[in-house]
Amino acid sequence: MSKNYDTLIIGAGIAGAATAHALTQKGQKVLVLDKKGIASGGSGAAGAFVSPKIGKGSPLQSLTNEAFSFAKAFYLANSPQHFHQTGVIRIPKDEADAQQFSDYAPFNENRYQIYSKEQLHAQGIRCDLESFYFPEAGDCDAKAVCEVLLSEIDVLQYEVRKIRQEEDVWHVGAYSAKNLVLATGYESDLADLRYMGIRGTWGTRGDFASDLELQVSMHQNISIGANVNGVIKLGATHEKEVKKPVPCQAGQALVLKEKASSIIDTSDLELKEVFCGMRAGSKDYFPLVGRVIDVATMLAAHPAIVRGAKPEMRYRENLYICNGLGGRGFVFAPLMAKQLADCIVEGKEVDSRVNADRLFLKWCRKSTELDFLR
Ligand SMILES: Cc1cc2nc3c(=O)[nH]c(=O)nc-3n(C[C@H](O)[C@H](O)[C@H](O)COP(=O)(O)OP(=O)(O)OC[C@H]3O[C@@H](n4cnc5c(N)ncnc54)[C@H](O)[C@@H]3O)c2cc1C
Repeated sequence: MSKNYDTLIIGAGIAGAATAHALTQKGQKVLVLDKKGIASGGSGAAGAFVSPKIGKGSPLQSLTNEAFSFAKAFYLANSPQHFHQTGVIRIPKDEADAQQFSDYAPFNENRYQIYSKEQLHAQGIRCDLESFYFPEAGDCDAKAVCEVLLSEIDVLQYEVRKIRQEEDVWHVGAYSAKNLVLATGYESDLADLRYMGIRGTWGTRGDFASDLELQVSMHQNISIGANVNGVIKLGATHEKEVKKPVPCQAGQALVLKEKASSIIDTSDLELKEVFCGMRAGSKDYFPLVGRVIDVATMLAAHPAIVRGAKPEMRYRENLYICNGLGGRGFVFAPLMAKQLADCIVEGKEVDSRVNADRLFLKWCRKSTELDFLR
Protein backbone atom coordinates (compact mmCIF):
# COMPACT_ATOMS: atom_id res chain seq x y z
CA MET A 1 0.00 0.00 0.00
CA SER A 2 1.28 3.43 -0.96
CA LYS A 3 1.84 6.19 1.60
CA ASN A 4 1.04 9.16 -0.63
CA TYR A 5 -2.37 9.92 -2.08
CA ASP A 6 -4.28 12.74 -3.70
CA THR A 7 -7.00 12.48 -1.08
CA LEU A 8 -7.42 10.78 2.29
CA ILE A 9 -11.00 10.10 3.38
CA ILE A 10 -11.83 9.35 7.01
CA GLY A 11 -14.95 7.20 7.24
CA ALA A 12 -16.01 4.28 5.08
CA GLY A 13 -19.77 4.70 5.35
CA ILE A 14 -21.85 5.58 2.30
CA ALA A 15 -20.62 9.22 2.41
CA GLY A 16 -16.94 8.23 2.39
CA ALA A 17 -17.45 5.35 -0.06
CA ALA A 18 -19.39 7.45 -2.59
CA THR A 19 -16.86 10.31 -2.30
CA ALA A 20 -13.94 7.91 -2.80
CA HIS A 21 -15.70 6.44 -5.83
CA ALA A 22 -16.40 9.87 -7.35
CA LEU A 23 -12.81 11.05 -6.84
CA THR A 24 -11.39 7.85 -8.29
CA GLN A 25 -13.62 8.28 -11.35
CA LYS A 26 -11.86 11.61 -11.84
CA GLY A 27 -8.46 9.93 -11.74
CA GLN A 28 -7.51 10.59 -8.11
CA LYS A 29 -5.57 8.19 -5.94
CA VAL A 30 -7.56 7.81 -2.74
CA LEU A 31 -7.10 6.11 0.65
CA VAL A 32 -10.11 5.52 2.88
CA LEU A 33 -9.54 5.01 6.62
CA ASP A 34 -12.16 3.67 8.99
CA LYS A 35 -11.70 2.66 12.60
CA LYS A 36 -13.99 -0.35 12.34
CA GLY A 37 -14.08 -1.13 8.63
CA ILE A 38 -16.44 -0.59 5.72
CA ALA A 39 -20.01 0.42 6.66
CA SER A 40 -19.36 -0.15 10.34
CA GLY A 41 -21.27 2.97 11.44
CA GLY A 42 -24.78 4.15 10.61
CA SER A 43 -24.46 2.96 7.01
CA GLY A 44 -24.18 -0.70 8.01
CA ALA A 45 -27.34 -0.44 10.10
CA ALA A 46 -29.40 1.34 7.45
CA GLY A 47 -32.38 -0.21 5.77
CA ALA A 48 -30.98 1.84 2.91
CA PHE A 49 -34.33 2.56 1.28
CA VAL A 50 -33.95 4.88 -1.68
CA SER A 51 -37.20 6.71 -2.21
CA PRO A 52 -38.48 10.25 -2.90
CA LYS A 53 -39.71 12.66 -0.24
CA ILE A 54 -43.38 13.57 -0.13
CA GLY A 55 -44.80 16.86 1.10
CA LYS A 56 -46.26 20.20 0.10
CA GLY A 57 -43.18 21.35 -1.75
CA SER A 58 -40.10 22.74 0.01
CA PRO A 59 -36.45 23.29 -0.87
CA LEU A 60 -35.56 20.16 1.09
CA GLN A 61 -38.15 18.10 -0.79
CA SER A 62 -36.86 19.34 -4.17
CA LEU A 63 -33.27 18.58 -3.24
CA THR A 64 -34.18 15.13 -1.91
CA ASN A 65 -36.07 14.29 -5.08
CA GLU A 66 -33.20 15.49 -7.24
CA ALA A 67 -30.86 13.33 -5.17
CA PHE A 68 -33.27 10.39 -5.46
CA SER A 69 -33.25 10.57 -9.28
CA PHE A 70 -29.48 10.70 -9.27
CA ALA A 71 -29.13 7.91 -6.69
CA LYS A 72 -31.35 5.36 -8.41
CA ALA A 73 -29.45 5.80 -11.69
CA PHE A 74 -26.16 5.65 -9.77
CA TYR A 75 -26.96 2.36 -8.02
CA LEU A 76 -28.35 0.80 -11.19
CA ALA A 77 -25.11 1.69 -12.96
CA ASN A 78 -22.63 0.86 -10.21
CA SER A 79 -24.17 -1.77 -7.98
CA PRO A 80 -27.24 -3.20 -9.73
CA GLN A 81 -26.97 -6.53 -7.91
CA HIS A 82 -27.36 -4.74 -4.55
CA PHE A 83 -30.11 -2.28 -5.49
CA HIS A 84 -33.54 -3.87 -5.40
CA GLN A 85 -35.89 -1.67 -7.41
CA THR A 86 -39.04 -3.13 -5.88
CA GLY A 87 -40.95 0.13 -5.74
CA VAL A 88 -41.90 1.82 -2.47
CA ILE A 89 -45.40 2.63 -1.20
CA ARG A 90 -45.89 5.66 1.05
CA ILE A 91 -48.79 4.87 3.36
CA PRO A 92 -50.58 7.65 5.28
CA LYS A 93 -50.26 7.35 9.06
CA ASP A 94 -53.95 7.96 9.67
CA GLU A 95 -57.07 9.61 8.20
CA ALA A 96 -55.74 13.11 8.85
CA ASP A 97 -52.49 12.29 7.08
CA ALA A 98 -54.44 10.73 4.20
CA GLN A 99 -56.29 14.04 3.72
CA GLN A 100 -52.92 15.71 3.20
CA PHE A 101 -51.89 13.30 0.45
CA SER A 102 -54.04 15.12 -2.13
CA ASP A 103 -52.11 18.30 -1.29
CA TYR A 104 -48.84 16.39 -1.67
CA ALA A 105 -49.66 14.92 -5.08
CA PRO A 106 -48.70 18.01 -7.20
CA PHE A 107 -45.26 17.94 -5.57
CA ASN A 108 -44.46 14.33 -6.40
CA GLU A 109 -41.68 15.13 -8.82
CA ASN A 110 -40.93 11.47 -9.51
CA ARG A 111 -43.06 8.94 -11.33
CA TYR A 112 -45.86 7.64 -9.06
CA GLN A 113 -49.30 6.06 -8.99
CA ILE A 114 -52.11 6.31 -6.48
CA TYR A 115 -52.76 2.92 -4.91
CA SER A 116 -56.33 2.20 -3.89
CA LYS A 117 -57.37 0.11 -0.92
CA GLU A 118 -57.89 -2.86 -3.28
CA GLN A 119 -54.40 -2.52 -4.74
CA LEU A 120 -52.90 -2.30 -1.26
CA HIS A 121 -54.80 -5.38 -0.10
CA ALA A 122 -53.66 -7.27 -3.21
CA GLN A 123 -50.05 -6.57 -2.10
CA GLY A 124 -50.77 -7.92 1.39
CA ILE A 125 -50.89 -4.44 2.96
CA ARG A 126 -53.48 -3.87 5.68
CA CYS A 127 -54.45 -0.34 4.91
CA ASP A 128 -57.61 1.19 3.52
CA LEU A 129 -56.16 4.63 2.85
CA GLU A 130 -55.09 5.72 -0.63
CA SER A 131 -51.31 5.68 -0.85
CA PHE A 132 -48.54 6.70 -3.24
CA TYR A 133 -46.61 4.05 -5.10
CA PHE A 134 -43.17 5.06 -6.46
CA PRO A 135 -42.17 2.28 -8.90
CA GLU A 136 -38.57 3.45 -9.38
CA ALA A 137 -37.75 3.43 -5.66
CA GLY A 138 -36.26 0.51 -3.78
CA ASP A 139 -33.58 -0.38 -1.29
CA CYS A 140 -29.90 -1.19 -1.19
CA ASP A 141 -28.00 -3.91 0.56
CA ALA A 142 -26.20 -1.22 2.56
CA LYS A 143 -22.89 -2.88 3.36
CA ALA A 144 -22.55 -4.58 -0.02
CA VAL A 145 -23.05 -1.27 -1.87
CA CYS A 146 -20.29 0.41 0.18
CA GLU A 147 -18.01 -2.57 -0.49
CA VAL A 148 -18.65 -2.44 -4.24
CA LEU A 149 -17.94 1.31 -4.38
CA LEU A 150 -14.65 0.76 -2.55
CA SER A 151 -13.67 -2.46 -4.30
CA GLU A 152 -10.87 -0.89 -6.32
CA ILE A 153 -9.80 1.69 -3.75
CA ASP A 154 -7.28 1.36 -0.90
CA VAL A 155 -9.10 0.95 2.42
CA LEU A 156 -7.43 0.68 5.79
CA GLN A 157 -8.86 -0.14 9.19
CA TYR A 158 -7.38 2.66 11.25
CA GLU A 159 -8.67 4.91 14.00
CA VAL A 160 -7.71 8.49 13.28
CA ARG A 161 -7.07 10.39 16.51
CA LYS A 162 -5.51 13.49 15.04
CA ILE A 163 -5.14 15.19 11.70
CA ARG A 164 -2.31 17.56 10.92
CA GLN A 165 -1.30 19.66 7.95
CA GLU A 166 2.30 20.60 7.21
CA GLU A 167 3.37 22.61 4.19
CA ASP A 168 0.08 22.04 2.39
CA VAL A 169 0.14 18.29 2.95
CA TRP A 170 -2.29 16.49 5.24
CA HIS A 171 -0.86 13.71 7.39
CA VAL A 172 -2.77 10.94 9.06
CA GLY A 173 -0.41 8.49 10.74
CA ALA A 174 2.06 7.40 8.07
CA TYR A 175 -0.21 8.47 5.19
CA SER A 176 -0.29 11.80 3.44
CA ALA A 177 -2.26 13.61 0.76
CA LYS A 178 -3.02 17.06 -0.54
CA ASN A 179 -6.71 16.79 0.40
CA LEU A 180 -8.50 15.42 3.43
CA VAL A 181 -12.22 14.59 3.56
CA LEU A 182 -14.06 14.08 6.85
CA ALA A 183 -16.87 11.57 6.38
CA THR A 184 -17.07 10.44 9.98
CA GLY A 185 -20.82 10.53 10.52
CA TYR A 186 -21.99 11.63 13.97
CA GLU A 187 -18.46 11.57 15.37
CA SER A 188 -17.06 14.92 14.38
CA ASP A 189 -14.25 15.93 16.71
CA LEU A 190 -11.25 15.83 14.35
CA ALA A 191 -11.72 19.50 13.43
CA ASP A 192 -13.77 22.39 14.79
CA LEU A 193 -17.12 21.62 13.17
CA ARG A 194 -19.31 23.05 15.93
CA TYR A 195 -20.98 25.49 13.56
CA MET A 196 -22.41 22.59 11.57
CA GLY A 197 -24.28 21.27 14.62
CA ILE A 198 -23.86 17.63 13.62
CA ARG A 199 -26.02 15.39 15.80
CA GLY A 200 -26.86 11.74 15.96
CA THR A 201 -30.20 9.97 15.84
CA TRP A 202 -30.25 6.37 16.93
CA GLY A 203 -32.02 3.66 15.00
CA THR A 204 -32.55 -0.04 14.67
CA ARG A 205 -33.03 -2.44 11.80
CA GLY A 206 -34.14 -6.04 12.11
CA ASP A 207 -33.70 -8.57 9.33
CA PHE A 208 -36.38 -11.26 9.52
CA ALA A 209 -36.57 -14.59 7.70
CA SER A 210 -39.99 -14.95 6.09
CA ASP A 211 -41.92 -16.70 3.32
CA LEU A 212 -44.43 -13.86 3.12
CA GLU A 213 -44.95 -12.80 -0.49
CA LEU A 214 -44.18 -9.13 -0.23
CA GLN A 215 -43.07 -7.73 -3.55
CA VAL A 216 -42.96 -4.06 -2.66
CA SER A 217 -41.34 -1.99 0.09
CA MET A 218 -43.27 0.54 2.16
CA HIS A 219 -42.91 3.42 4.61
CA GLN A 220 -45.30 4.52 7.26
CA ASN A 221 -44.14 4.99 10.87
CA ILE A 222 -41.47 2.45 10.07
CA SER A 223 -39.91 1.15 6.87
CA ILE A 224 -40.73 -2.37 5.67
CA GLY A 225 -38.69 -3.93 2.89
CA ALA A 226 -39.98 -6.22 0.19
CA ASN A 227 -39.11 -9.89 0.66
CA VAL A 228 -35.70 -10.21 -1.00
CA ASN A 229 -34.22 -13.72 -0.94
CA GLY A 230 -36.39 -14.75 2.02
CA VAL A 231 -35.55 -11.69 4.15
CA ILE A 232 -37.79 -8.77 5.14
CA LYS A 233 -36.04 -5.71 6.61
CA LEU A 234 -37.79 -3.56 9.21
CA GLY A 235 -36.17 -0.28 10.20
CA ALA A 236 -36.65 3.03 11.96
CA THR A 237 -34.46 5.84 13.33
CA HIS A 238 -36.16 8.00 15.89
CA GLU A 239 -34.33 8.21 19.19
CA LYS A 240 -32.76 11.66 19.27
CA GLU A 241 -31.62 11.56 22.90
CA VAL A 242 -29.11 8.70 22.51
CA LYS A 243 -25.65 10.25 22.72
CA LYS A 244 -23.57 7.09 22.57
CA PRO A 245 -24.19 3.78 20.82
CA VAL A 246 -25.58 1.06 23.07
CA PRO A 247 -25.40 -2.68 22.33
CA CYS A 248 -27.95 -3.87 19.78
CA GLN A 249 -30.75 -5.81 21.38
CA ALA A 250 -33.23 -8.22 19.86
CA GLY A 251 -35.98 -6.46 21.82
CA GLN A 252 -35.55 -3.31 19.71
CA ALA A 253 -36.12 -5.29 16.51
CA LEU A 254 -39.12 -7.06 18.02
CA VAL A 255 -40.71 -3.66 18.74
CA LEU A 256 -40.40 -2.97 15.01
CA LYS A 257 -42.07 -6.30 14.26
CA GLU A 258 -44.93 -5.38 16.58
CA LYS A 259 -45.36 -2.05 14.75
CA ALA A 260 -45.18 -3.77 11.36
CA SER A 261 -47.99 -6.12 12.37
CA SER A 262 -50.51 -3.33 11.89
CA ILE A 263 -49.45 -3.11 8.22
CA ILE A 264 -48.47 -6.63 7.10
CA ASP A 265 -48.89 -10.21 8.28
CA THR A 266 -45.87 -10.71 10.52
CA SER A 267 -46.84 -14.14 11.83
CA ASP A 268 -44.00 -16.05 10.15
CA LEU A 269 -41.29 -13.37 10.62
CA GLU A 270 -38.31 -14.78 12.51
CA LEU A 271 -35.56 -12.47 13.65
CA LYS A 272 -32.24 -13.31 11.95
CA GLU A 273 -30.09 -10.32 12.82
CA VAL A 274 -30.34 -6.93 14.53
CA PHE A 275 -28.38 -3.86 13.42
CA CYS A 276 -28.30 -0.53 15.13
CA GLY A 277 -26.49 2.70 14.63
CA MET A 278 -26.45 6.44 14.60
CA ARG A 279 -27.27 8.58 11.64
CA ALA A 280 -25.80 12.07 11.53
CA GLY A 281 -27.99 15.04 10.69
CA SER A 282 -27.54 18.80 10.48
CA LYS A 283 -29.50 21.57 12.20
CA ASP A 284 -31.56 22.32 9.11
CA TYR A 285 -31.76 18.73 7.75
CA PHE A 286 -29.78 19.59 4.61
CA PRO A 287 -26.51 17.75 3.96
CA LEU A 288 -23.15 19.29 4.89
CA VAL A 289 -20.79 19.30 1.95
CA GLY A 290 -17.74 21.28 0.88
CA ARG A 291 -14.88 23.15 2.46
CA VAL A 292 -14.38 23.48 6.23
CA ILE A 293 -14.19 27.01 7.62
CA ASP A 294 -11.13 27.95 9.69
CA VAL A 295 -13.15 28.84 12.78
CA ALA A 296 -10.23 29.95 14.98
CA THR A 297 -8.84 32.29 12.33
CA MET A 298 -12.24 33.76 11.51
CA LEU A 299 -13.01 34.48 15.18
CA ALA A 300 -9.59 35.93 15.90
CA ALA A 301 -9.54 38.13 12.79
CA HIS A 302 -13.17 39.27 12.99
CA PRO A 303 -14.46 39.60 16.56
CA ALA A 304 -17.41 41.63 15.24
CA ILE A 305 -18.68 38.45 13.62
CA VAL A 306 -20.64 37.64 16.79
CA ARG A 307 -22.50 40.95 16.36
CA GLY A 308 -23.47 40.31 12.77
CA ALA A 309 -20.41 41.24 10.66
CA LYS A 310 -20.15 39.24 7.44
CA PRO A 311 -16.48 38.94 6.54
CA GLU A 312 -15.16 36.84 3.71
CA MET A 313 -14.82 33.17 4.71
CA ARG A 314 -11.43 31.67 5.34
CA TYR A 315 -11.04 27.93 5.10
CA ARG A 316 -8.84 25.15 6.42
CA GLU A 317 -6.80 24.51 3.32
CA ASN A 318 -7.87 21.43 1.35
CA LEU A 319 -10.03 20.15 4.22
CA TYR A 320 -13.50 19.01 3.16
CA ILE A 321 -16.61 17.44 4.61
CA CYS A 322 -19.37 15.10 3.47
CA ASN A 323 -21.80 14.59 6.33
CA GLY A 324 -25.25 15.43 7.67
CA LEU A 325 -27.01 13.02 5.32
CA GLY A 326 -29.67 12.35 7.97
CA GLY A 327 -32.19 9.59 7.45
CA ARG A 328 -31.48 9.55 3.72
CA GLY A 329 -27.79 8.82 3.44
CA PHE A 330 -28.26 6.37 0.59
CA VAL A 331 -30.41 8.88 -1.27
CA PHE A 332 -28.10 11.87 -0.82
CA ALA A 333 -24.62 10.34 -0.90
CA PRO A 334 -24.14 9.80 -4.67
CA LEU A 335 -25.11 13.39 -5.62
CA MET A 336 -23.26 14.94 -2.67
CA ALA A 337 -20.16 12.91 -3.49
CA LYS A 338 -20.28 14.09 -7.10
CA GLN A 339 -20.55 17.71 -5.97
CA LEU A 340 -17.67 17.31 -3.55
CA ALA A 341 -15.48 15.63 -6.17
CA ASP A 342 -16.28 18.46 -8.63
CA CYS A 343 -15.26 20.94 -5.93
CA ILE A 344 -12.03 19.14 -4.97
CA VAL A 345 -10.82 18.29 -8.46
CA GLU A 346 -12.24 21.10 -10.59
CA GLY A 347 -12.69 23.83 -7.98
CA LYS A 348 -16.45 24.09 -8.69
CA GLU A 349 -18.65 25.74 -6.07
CA VAL A 350 -20.77 23.34 -4.05
CA ASP A 351 -24.55 23.88 -4.33
CA SER A 352 -25.40 26.60 -1.77
CA ARG A 353 -28.24 24.45 -0.38
CA VAL A 354 -25.77 21.91 0.96
CA ASN A 355 -22.65 24.05 1.41
CA ALA A 356 -21.85 23.89 5.13
CA ASP A 357 -20.93 27.62 5.08
CA ARG A 358 -24.65 28.46 5.34
CA LEU A 359 -24.60 27.68 9.07
CA PHE A 360 -21.47 29.55 10.12
CA LEU A 361 -22.55 33.18 10.56
CA LYS A 362 -25.73 32.25 12.38
CA TRP A 363 -23.75 29.98 14.69
CA CYS A 364 -21.34 32.86 15.45
CA ARG A 365 -24.23 35.16 16.33
CA LYS A 366 -26.18 32.65 18.39
CA SER A 367 -23.52 30.48 19.98
CA THR A 368 -23.19 30.76 23.74
CA GLU A 369 -19.80 29.09 23.31
CA LEU A 370 -18.55 32.39 21.88
CA ASP A 371 -19.74 34.65 24.69
CA PHE A 372 -16.17 35.67 25.47
CA LEU A 373 -16.06 37.57 22.15
CA ARG A 374 -19.21 39.58 22.69
C1 LIG B 1 -31.40 2.08 11.57
C2 LIG B 1 -31.11 3.02 10.45
C3 LIG B 1 -31.90 2.99 9.31
C4 LIG B 1 -31.63 3.86 8.25
N1 LIG B 1 -32.38 3.76 7.13
C5 LIG B 1 -32.05 4.50 6.05
C6 LIG B 1 -32.76 4.34 4.83
O1 LIG B 1 -33.68 3.54 4.73
N2 LIG B 1 -32.38 5.08 3.75
C7 LIG B 1 -31.33 5.95 3.82
O2 LIG B 1 -31.01 6.57 2.81
N3 LIG B 1 -30.66 6.15 4.97
C8 LIG B 1 -31.01 5.45 6.08
N4 LIG B 1 -30.35 5.63 7.26
C9 LIG B 1 -29.40 6.75 7.35
C10 LIG B 1 -28.05 6.39 6.81
O3 LIG B 1 -27.62 5.21 7.41
C11 LIG B 1 -27.07 7.52 7.11
O4 LIG B 1 -27.49 8.70 6.50
C12 LIG B 1 -25.70 7.14 6.57
O5 LIG B 1 -25.25 6.01 7.26
C13 LIG B 1 -24.71 8.26 6.73
O6 LIG B 1 -23.50 7.77 6.24
P1 LIG B 1 -22.14 8.38 6.68
O7 LIG B 1 -21.12 7.76 5.81
O8 LIG B 1 -22.24 9.86 6.74
O9 LIG B 1 -21.92 7.93 8.20
P2 LIG B 1 -21.53 6.45 8.85
O10 LIG B 1 -22.13 5.40 8.04
O11 LIG B 1 -21.87 6.56 10.25
O12 LIG B 1 -19.97 6.41 8.58
C14 LIG B 1 -19.03 7.10 9.36
C15 LIG B 1 -17.81 6.20 9.49
O13 LIG B 1 -16.74 6.96 10.02
C16 LIG B 1 -15.97 6.12 10.85
N5 LIG B 1 -15.22 6.97 11.76
C17 LIG B 1 -15.72 7.89 12.63
N6 LIG B 1 -14.70 8.50 13.30
C18 LIG B 1 -13.56 7.92 12.85
C19 LIG B 1 -12.19 8.11 13.17
N7 LIG B 1 -11.79 9.00 14.09
N8 LIG B 1 -11.26 7.34 12.53
C20 LIG B 1 -11.65 6.44 11.60
N9 LIG B 1 -12.93 6.22 11.27
C21 LIG B 1 -13.88 6.95 11.88
C22 LIG B 1 -17.01 5.23 11.53
O14 LIG B 1 -16.42 4.02 11.98
C23 LIG B 1 -18.03 5.03 10.42
O15 LIG B 1 -17.83 3.82 9.73
C24 LIG B 1 -30.58 4.80 8.34
C25 LIG B 1 -29.77 4.83 9.50
C26 LIG B 1 -30.03 3.96 10.54
C27 LIG B 1 -29.15 4.03 11.73
